[in-house]
Amino acid sequence: MLKDVKRIVVKVGTSSLTYGTGKLNIRRIRKLGEVLSDLLNSGVQVALVSSGAIGVGASKLGLIARPTDTPGRQAAATVGQCELMFMYDKVFGEYGHTVGQLLITRSDIENPERRDNLVNCFEKLFEYGAIPVINENDSVAVEEIVYGDNDNLSAQVARLIGADTLIILSDIDGFFSANPAEDENAVLIPLVDKIDDTLLHMAGPSVSHLGTGGMATKLGAAKSATEAGIDTVIMNGSNPEDIYRLLDGRQVGTHFKRQGE
Ligand code: GLU
Repeated sequence: MLKDVKRIVVKVGTSSLTYGTGKLNIRRIRKLGEVLSDLLNSGVQVALVSSGAIGVGASKLGLIARPTDTPGRQAAATVGQCELMFMYDKVFGEYGHTVGQLLITRSDIENPERRDNLVNCFEKLFEYGAIPVINENDSVAVEEIVYGDNDNLSAQVARLIGADTLIILSDIDGFFSANPAEDENAVLIPLVDKIDDTLLHMAGPSVSHLGTGGMATKLGAAKSATEAGIDTVIMNGSNPEDIYRLLDGRQVGTHFKRQGE
């Protein structure tokens, strides 16, 4: 059971936001915007970490695949990020909510002064009742400074803003005993008390073709967040209304318990 849910970070990956064609899954984005708007209305503060800039940009530019070179990724991200924010602004706007975009690099979080500035900005956005939408600043980030995956970024953001809950929406139902695509005996693990080395080994690298993350990065994010006292849930993002079920105390996805109690 999630407790004291007041400030949530929701992370949504490229595979949840787009179709196999690389184009936006409009129905999914609309539903996500609706559910998160409803949470905001209920008094919960929400920050959304959204991937998709590179994948959506590549599709919009008519590229047949996600670019592998850094300038190509940077350029695709400039295009895709606009498209994403346009959609979020529209969808959240329909429910009377306002989005603010934050594009972050590693140094923004690691440098104490920039970190403080960033926290101030988040706090002000929450005070204004706006919803921060975060992505890595892919257009200026190069190898050494990139988080590289938004799973990790979402955990860093959750820690930064003192969130109590991190929800990672994925294209898989949660954390399984083995890769369900390869092992028919794989079972979903509903609750994890502590992420140890055995568990980390169980998360093989599963990479979708438009995003960059896999179960290993999600587990790493869950470890970082839970160690900072943040309950973390990995769940399927195909039906955003499942977030209601989760917050109602029903079993959804895999719940990694916050540490330190
Ligand atoms: N920042 C990347 C993007 O928006 C996504 C990184 C990831 O897939 O985790 O395309």
